[in-house]
Amino acid sequence: MNNRTAFVRLQGNFKGRGIIAIMSDKTIPCPCGRQHHKQIVSFEKCCARYLDHYDLTPAPDAQSLMRSRYAAFVLEREAYLKATWAAEHRPPVIDFDHKVKWLGLEVKRHREIDAEHAEVEFVARSRLNGRATRLHEVSQFIKRDGRWFYVDGAFA
Ligand SMILES: [Zn+2]
Repeated sequence: MNNRTAFVRLQGNFKGRGIIAIMSDKTIPCPCGRQHHKQIVSFEKCCARYLDHYDLTPAPDAQSLMRSRYAAFVLEREAYLKATWAAEHRPPVIDFDHKVKWLGLEVKRHREIDAEHAEVEFVARSRLNGRATRLHEVSQFIKRDGRWFYVDGAFA
């Protein structure tokens, strides 16, 4: 994928969100907020590879999957969210609320329960109609055929 394509795609995704997409994938900070040396990693170097190529490049662990799914919510990537949702829990349609402005993600804790089960605790902050909301959830993940899937979550 060249940068021109990436630019157009991100512009489409950010439309109406008050973000002027004059940056390429190389400079857009990843919505998941992952840091390296106290700098937010670019979308390209972070979650883009999973969102764009989930058939070939699945997220390698539950925390990466959780982060990439948050990025997919921000960017309204329904196909990715469905592809990474355990089939028995996957909703037929994902309703994005365009009025929700996602403000950030904080992964509090993550642990592998065993080789096929993992848990990630996170806080996702958003704003709706001027009101700040804090979603504090413990999410369950399962590994099937070498890929991690989101199962479900409970409020912490
Ligand atoms: Zn990311």
